[in-house]
Amino acid sequence: MVVAACSSSDDTATQTTVAGTSDDTTPPTEVPDTLPPVDFSTDPFTLGVASGDPSTESVIIWTRLAPDPLNGGGLSDTEYSVRWELARDADFTDVMAEGDAIASPRHGHSVHAEVSPPTNETIYYRFRVGDFASPVGITRLAPDSSSIEPVRIATASCQNYTDGYYTAYDDMVKQSPDLIVFLGDYIYEGGMGEPGTVRENNSEEPKDLVAYRNRYALYKSDPLLQAAHATCPWVVTWDDHEVENNYAGFVPQDAADAEGHAARRAAAYQAWWEHMPVRMTAPIDGQLSIYRRISWGGLVNMLVLDGRQYRDDQACADAVLKVEPACPEASLPERSMLGSEQEQWVANNIASDAVWSVLANQTVMSDIRLGDAILNYDQWDGYSPSRDRVLESTTAAENLIVLTGDIHLAGVGQLTTSSDPSTSRGVEFVTTSITSDANIDASLEALLVSLPNIIDAEVSHRGYTLHTVTATDWTAQYRIVDDARVDGSAVSTWKTFAVTAGTPTVTAV
Ligand code: FE
Ligand code: CA
Repeated sequence: MVVAACSSSDDTATQTTVAGTSDDTTPPTEVPDTLPPVDFSTDPFTLGVASGDPSTESVIIWTRLAPDPLNGGGLSDTEYSVRWELARDADFTDVMAEGDAIASPRHGHSVHAEVSPPTNETIYYRFRVGDFASPVGITRLAPDSSSIEPVRIATASCQNYTDGYYTAYDDMVKQSPDLIVFLGDYIYEGGMGEPGTVRENNSEEPKDLVAYRNRYALYKSDPLLQAAHATCPWVVTWDDHEVENNYAGFVPQDAADAEGHAARRAAAYQAWWEHMPVRMTAPIDGQLSIYRRISWGGLVNMLVLDGRQYRDDQACADAVLKVEPACPEASLPERSMLGSEQEQWVANNIASDAVWSVLANQTVMSDIRLGDAILNYDQWDGYSPSRDRVLESTTAAENLIVLTGDIHLAGVGQLTTSSDPSTSRGVEFVTTSITSDANIDASLEALLVSLPNIIDAEVSHRGYTLHTVTATDWTAQYRIVDDARVDGSAVSTWKTFAVTAGTPTVTAV
C-alpha cells in the first residue's frame, strides 16, 4: 500500500505537516518555535495555493514560498514557519482551525499541511508568513461512505504552456466542480523557441532540480491555473512530460540520454512533489510512490495509477502510427505497464462497496489495435498482456470507468480484453488537452471513429471533461475551447455521454 505515510489527527484542532519535518521518514512533529523571523520583504505567495487528496478525515493544503519564483524561488537556505488558517468564510472572521508548518529549503520552501477541519462543508484556507497572507483557497473533505450525494468531477491533462492559454480552467472554475482530477503532463520539458509557440518557456530543457522548479513556477504563475487550484481539491497523477517525453521507468526516450537519466528523473520527481497538493512524503532516493486510492462517499472508489515509473520500455522502438505487424516483444506476457506490484494492488483494491470503480490513468487503455498493428506503443496497446491482466482483475468490480488524458483529443471508448474482444468491461473517457497540440490534423478523427472500440472522438479542440456522478448514472460532458491559442476564447459543449449503472455501455445524450 502506498497511501499516506503521514499520520492523520483525530482531534480537529491539532495540526500536522505531511512533510517538512527534519527527517522525511519520521512522523510529523510540532513546528519548533526557534525558527528565525521572516527576513524577506517581497510577497512569497506568487504561486498561489492548492489542496488535494481529500479523505473523510483530512485534506492536504499546499503553498510554496517563492518571492522570486522564476529564479529558484528567491529565499535563503533557511527554514520558515508558515501559519495556516481554516475558516467558514472567505474573510476569515470565523476561523475553525489554525496551525503551523515548516517551509524547508530542502523542499523548495513548499508546504504540505494535512489539516482536519471539523466540518464536511465548504472550507476556506490561507497561509500567512511575516506580514504576508496568501490568496484564499476553497476545499472540503470527502463525504463518508453512507453518502450518495452526486459529485461533479472535472478531468484535465496536458497543459503545455507554450501551446496556448488556460481558458479551459476559467470555464472549469465557473462550473464549480467538487474535485479536479489531473491525469498527467502538468508541465512539458521542452526548451525555448519551439515551433508554434503561443507563450514562451523560461529556459532550455530542464534537467536539474532548480530548472524543474523554475518550470513549475512558470506554469503556476498563470492566474487561471491558480484559480482552478484554489476552487476545490485536486487529485493529481503524472505522465511522461513531468520528466521527459516517453520515458519508461529508468529508460529515457533516447538511449543517448541514458547517462544522467536517473538523476534527472529524481530531480523531476522532487520538483513534482514540491508543487503538487499530494498526500505523500518527499521522494526518497529518487523513488516516489504515487499510486493511491481516493474514495468519495458511497459513489466512487478511484484508484490513481502510475503508468510511468514502473513500466517496461516501449516495444518496437516506440513507433507511432506505423501500420505494420507489431514486433514479437509487444506481446511478451512479462511486460507490464504498472509493474507487478501495482498490478496486484489494482486487483486487490478495485472492488468495493462504491457504485463506481474508477481508474485515473495516464495513457489510452481502449484496444485500438488495427489487426496486428499497434498505432501507439506508448499506450496500453503496447502492453496488451498487462491490460488483459488488469481488466480481468476488475471483473468483481462494479461499473468500471477509466479516466484518461494522454493524446490531446476527446474520445469515448469501451474496454475489452484480447480473449473476448466483443464484450465491454467498462467505459473509458479520454479528456482532450487543456492546451497541448492546439493544432491536430482533423483527418485523424475519421480513422478513430472507424475503430470498433471507439464510440466517438473529436480531435480539433482543447478543453476538459466534466463528469456528474450519481448512484444511477455517470454523465460526461465534454467542454471545448474554440481556439486555445487565443486568450479568452469561447467555451462550449461538444457532446455529453452517459453510462447507466449496471450496463457497461455508453450512449450520447
Ligand atoms: Fe501530453
Ligand atoms: Ca504523454
